[in-house]
Amino acid sequence: MEFLRPTTWAEALAAKVDQPDAVPIQGGTDVMVEINFSVRRPPALLDLTAVPELATWSLDGGRYRIGAAVPYSVIIGELGGALPGLAQAARTVGSPQIRNRGSVGGNLGAASPAGDSHPPLLAAGAAVEVESRERGVRMIPADAFYLGVKRSALLPDELIRAVHVEPAAGPQYFSKVGTRNAMVIAVCSFAVALHPDERRVGTGLGSAAPTPRRAREAEEFLAAELDWSAPLQPALLARFGELCAGAAAPIDDVRGTAGYRRHAIAVLARRTLTWAWHDHLERRAA
Ligand SMILES: Cc1cc2nc3c(=O)[nH]c(=O)nc-3n(C[C@H](O)[C@H](O)[C@H](O)COP(=O)(O)OP(=O)(O)OC[C@H]3O[C@@H](n4cnc5c(N)ncnc54)[C@H](O)[C@@H]3O)c2cc1C
Repeated sequence: MEFLRPTTWAEALAAKVDQPDAVPIQGGTDVMVEINFSVRRPPALLDLTAVPELATWSLDGGRYRIGAAVPYSVIIGELGGALPGLAQAARTVGSPQIRNRGSVGGNLGAASPAGDSHPPLLAAGAAVEVESRERGVRMIPADAFYLGVKRSALLPDELIRAVHVEPAAGPQYFSKVGTRNAMVIAVCSFAVALHPDERRVGTGLGSAAPTPRRAREAEEFLAAELDWSAPLQPALLARFGELCAGAAAPIDDVRGTAGYRRHAIAVLARRTLTWAWHDHLERRAA
């Protein structure tokens, strides 16, 4: 197996053109597991850990630009205030060791339906910055990025450079069902992000369909029905849960049944919206 180790972004893009079947490796917490278990044996690895800019984040034009290599521990430690939904999801990833190595870029690259960063990125309306040497930069909205089980809109000559997310305009929550509290792949997960300025609520479902996805009908329902100055009505909350469960297309597998996942999505949706609404009304009253 060849091992390519570019030290600049330009070299990395060139290497991906020269050898499109080279598998990028960032933290390696997915790639090394696959290699060790012989799930795949790529002809070459494209190690991105020596490209320093990938490990940095910045606030550009009112949006956070998080380099593909920024580990979960940095998102938790440095961006938790501005991006609470993503930071909550990051806190549930693996163990401290995994959170120190694993990155949102790697989570996007793997495009697993169960990846924990996807629901909050969908709910917040994030965009993925990808680049190829020949065609330059493309900004892919998160809800157009996931195409199928472990398949994304990334083309063979492209690399993920960063993810762009606006600072939270309102309360955000993420919740995950697992068989224990840590080191667990989600049975299903859900994220909600309130956008009070736009009178809009964003959603993201995880591990409940072939791809992470938004519950669009549920979002439209809330946009039409929510009174942003009043307590949540139980009937509205129940309908929101039903519509979120309806957006799921889960499977039966070792982690849970499709029926359980649908039920759990409704519970998580009601629960996270209730938490977020509580914070929203408290902020209004303050
Ligand atoms: C013990 C353990 C526990 C885990 N727990 C969780 C969990 O709770 N939740 C969860 O979501 N995940 C979990 N994971 C999976 C993994 O940690 C995450 O998916 C993590 O985000 C991967 O990031 P990484 O930087 O290690 O990616 P890598 O393993 O380096 O890469 C992952 C994929 O992304 C591609 N890739 C990486 N960087 C780029 C780039 N810049 N451009 C294009 N493609 C790229 C790679 O080719 C590969 O396909 C766990 C893994 C382990 C081993």
